[in-house]
Amino acid sequence: MAQERYGLVSARVQVAKNGYQWITAVSNESAYYVPNVEEERDWLGGIMPELAEADANRQAEENIAGYYRRDMERALTSIDAQGDVLDMCKEGQAALPLCVPSMEKDLMTEQTLHRKFAALAREQNQEAAILEFANNWGWLQSPTRYYREIDGATLTGLCMGESLAFWQREIRDMAHVLGMLDFARSRSQTSLARFDERKYGRRFQWQDDGKVYLTQGKTRRYVAHYHDPAGESDYHVPENDAKAAAECYVAQQIDTRVATLSVGRYPWNNRIYKGEIRVGPRSLLGALWVLCMLEAHGNLTLAECPHCQTWFVPKHTDTIYCSRQCRQNARNARIRAEQTTEAA
Ligand SMILES: [Zn+2]
Repeated sequence: MAQERYGLVSARVQVAKNGYQWITAVSNESAYYVPNVEEERDWLGGIMPELAEADANRQAEENIAGYYRRDMERALTSIDAQGDVLDMCKEGQAALPLCVPSMEKDLMTEQTLHRKFAALAREQNQEAAILEFANNWGWLQSPTRYYREIDGATLTGLCMGESLAFWQREIRDMAHVLGMLDFARSRSQTSLARFDERKYGRRFQWQDDGKVYLTQGKTRRYVAHYHDPAGESDYHVPENDAKAAAECYVAQQIDTRVATLSVGRYPWNNRIYKGEIRVGPRSLLGALWVLCMLEAHGNLTLAECPHCQTWFVPKHTDTIYCSRQCRQNARNARIRAEQTTEAA
């Protein structure tokens, strides 16, 4: 049992029973009540009386712009309570109950989920793919409330939602870390990675002062020290070892995420009269990073099928394809290719 194999990890997520429906643009009119600059300035003055008038004005303008930006973000919204929304709107109530009917899913039965999540980064129809993922696995974290029109009618209901931009950011981050992990493990041909090892390795800059940086476009991020006689840093890697630097970078990224998105538990077991060690994610996003951690650490061995690009848990170390079908299809494709070459 998967659960047994990872004794330290319990990864369960709550998924809405009826799924989440469309990605909707939340327009200014139907969104939150947005105050004007004067009101916002008065409010700021109330909570920060020491604020100078010019500063208060500037801050108020910034806040208002921020509200609008947030309201214009497109969101995945829940349809669970659509019936309730209509009923409550009829009854003249503005708010929905915060909880939606949900069920529990065991993530340890789906050990490649973080890979599937990262693969959303290169989906042609990304919005539809994100929606499908959300319908299967639920919210990434805790959804916030959005107003939305119901059935295009005048009824406006309060729904639980998560912004599309937030999903896209998280997908990009996961894809970036896994791409880096693939580089560290010399898996340059995975669908996420597809890179030239040497070129990729040159993204790490080894400075004369003993520091190594990762470059990304115009930005540069400190990764570790390769020479640190004064003991300035917690991160050390051997000189000119780009793979070690990549591994160190991946560890840092996972460390931050797992620290904030997971929680340690020590629940009492009535059967053995002893506490049990459990590390559990707080959310789906936490669970995805826990899976990423298990893969990086080698507790979880995954492979990508070269034929269908699906990630899977290989049964043996020499398993190449995800299924017999894929092995057969790949063989047929090879034979066809050979025949075409011969004919030409
Ligand atoms: Zn396959």
